[in-house]
Amino acid sequence: MSRFFAGKLASLKEYTPGEQPKDQVYIKLNTNESPYPPSNGVIEAVNSKEVELLRLYPDPDCTKLKEKIASLYGVEKENVFVSNGSDDILNFAFLAFGEGGAAFADITYGFYKVFAALHGVKSQIMPLESDFSIDPKKYYGLNKFIAIANPNAPTGLFIDPSEIEKVAVNNPDSVVLVDEAYVDFGGKSCIPLTKKLDNLLVVATYSKSRSLAGARLGYAIGNKELISDLEKIKFSTNPYSINRLTLLAGEAAIDDDNYYKANCQRIIEAREYAKSELEKLGFYVTDSKANFLFARSPDISGKELYLKLREKGILVRHFDDEKITDFNRITVGTMEEMQTLVKAVKEILG
Ligand SMILES: *Cc1c(COP(=O)(O)O)cnc(C)c1O
Repeated sequence: MSRFFAGKLASLKEYTPGEQPKDQVYIKLNTNESPYPPSNGVIEAVNSKEVELLRLYPDPDCTKLKEKIASLYGVEKENVFVSNGSDDILNFAFLAFGEGGAAFADITYGFYKVFAALHGVKSQIMPLESDFSIDPKKYYGLNKFIAIANPNAPTGLFIDPSEIEKVAVNNPDSVVLVDEAYVDFGGKSCIPLTKKLDNLLVVATYSKSRSLAGARLGYAIGNKELISDLEKIKFSTNPYSINRLTLLAGEAAIDDDNYYKANCQRIIEAREYAKSELEKLGFYVTDSKANFLFARSPDISGKELYLKLREKGILVRHFDDEKITDFNRITVGTMEEMQTLVKAVKEILG
């Protein structure tokens, strides 16, 4: 830390991304990326002619992309916000809506507490139940900004939109943000609820189900006043936060929605296969509705399994948090990758 760094940020603990190692080729099951490439439409849209146009700024309003997202979800363009990854949007949301404090689970996406700290937002940490589930009733009447990942990460557990609706109804004077990064893998979206609830904001990403983690694109859907608050912050920081190529990729990906739906289906099949194989080996595996499994073996510690898989060229994610230290979060790849994983686990367990 330099002697010039802001004192109020001195104790800030930054987010730790999953490893992106360069020492060898791994089967990467650690950062919940898609094992499938972007659709052909995306690959064709990002062509050398468009690269030549990079001398020009992109459209700061992202009109075409917003219109496509709006029509896919049956909302208006004014209900759609887009930015540089959903992390960007979460950051803005804590800044915009967190003045009265924030509440989120103790075991959830690690960025919530970072953004809260960054913006001096006081956090109420909500412990999960012993089975890792969220009890929505405990969120009633908190009257502060609430962030819920649904499905939750890294547990993969999903709660029905009707439960989220009750959380929003019972916190009428604060924003309830639902982070739907993983909703396409078997959950159900809260987007339809945003039409009747002016305090519900749904945040989603192209990084997981749409194979565009490297392009950095996220979106939010909600009441148009909420969206204009986010626009105000975007236009006060970086109006050009989405580059030209990413805009084109994002538009083409919506056109190719069926391709991504089919990929999600394949990932769900591979997930259920890997889950049942791990269960046969004695693992406890949560009922994940995401593109990852959250699994604990009675025979080997989470850390040791992580290290031994790494030696075999397979990367999974292990978290040091005491409550979940026995677990690993395993991204669901292709069926072949899952077969390789299961074989490696069998060898490790002997
Ligand atoms: C991956 C992830 C994000 C971040 O997505 P980006 O769009 O890549 O920034 C947000 N929330 C959750 C719960 C995630 O797992």
